[in-house]
Amino acid sequence: MRRRPIGSPEPDSALTTRRMQLTPRRHTTPELQLQSMLRAAGLRFATDISPLRTLRRKADIVFRKLEIAVFVDGCFWHGCPVHGTWPAHNAAWWRGKIERNRARDADTTRRLKAAGWLVIRVWEHGVRPNSTRRILAHVIRRRAQGSARGVGRAKRRTPPRPELAPKIWPRSRRRATPPA
Ligand SMILES: [Zn+2]
Repeated sequence: MRRRPIGSPEPDSALTTRRMQLTPRRHTTPELQLQSMLRAAGLRFATDISPLRTLRRKADIVFRKLEIAVFVDGCFWHGCPVHGTWPAHNAAWWRGKIERNRARDADTTRRLKAAGWLVIRVWEHGVRPNSTRRILAHVIRRRAQGSARGVGRAKRRTPPRPELAPKIWPRSRRRATPPA
């Protein structure tokens, strides 16, 4: 969720102004609500950070070791199918803006998935105990899979190249080699 960007047209209708006032700012209700519900469920996580160093986009909730990123998408800015409304004034600008946000969301999800992350997107209107349970279920599943997935550094370690293998042969092979 973000503030109205610099350079965006001034909202020129009472309705748009009202919507801007209702649009939560960074670190207001929905994200904070979800974070506190997850903490109450005993989970620990990072907040408002980029899950990947190469990705210049922040997630609202990040389980680094488990590689789970949670995004709370604002109904207005991300074009929620239920509450997403398209302002009549500056319609083209707003439509373009919201479409770009959506394309960016999809791209972020794609990149994280490609890096082995689990991406959970929650609509602002969907922040309620149900979404906490859903995230909790993913965390539990991901923890259980942890050793199999080789969570952490080990997963990314490349297999040793043959030329780096020890020069000394195993004892059994050495014995089998006829003397020169
Ligand atoms: Zn919504």
